[in-house]
Amino acid sequence: MSRKISGGCLCGAVKFVVNDSFDKFYFCHCIQCRKVSGSSHASNLFTTTEHIKWLSGLDKTVRFDHKEGEFTKVFCSQCGSGLPYKSLSSESLIVPAGSLDEEPSLAPQAQIFCSEKVDWFTAGISAPKNSRYESSD
Ligand SMILES: [Zn+2]
Ligand SMILES: [Zn+2]
Repeated sequence: MSRKISGGCLCGAVKFVVNDSFDKFYFCHCIQCRKVSGSSHASNLFTTTEHIKWLSGLDKTVRFDHKEGEFTKVFCSQCGSGLPYKSLSSESLIVPAGSLDEEPSLAPQAQIFCSEKVDWFTAGISAPKNSRYESSD
């Protein structure tokens, strides 16, 4: 039996557990992921749908399927947090890594759609690192 990881949204309405048996872990720099995440990239784990168990709040989730191309976002209708969703074209379950409460065993394996990556991502990861909002120095 694999380890189980709990997850959910920021407001606490939606909760799930997922098996820590992910096949892939990618940072995606495509423009769609940038827009829906509001950040430089999405951090997505991939598994299959039988590995998730929803504990609460499934009725609070909203699914957006982009009208062209394969792009989906599922989020909490109360707080907007990104949540796991089933791919339209397969049995894949895509899990936004930030929705997990604990670290997955798998580390990121690749960054994809780097042709669409913003320069401020590269600048940001090499910027000074403060432990809180501002440096206390
Ligand atoms: Zn929520
Ligand atoms: Zn993407």
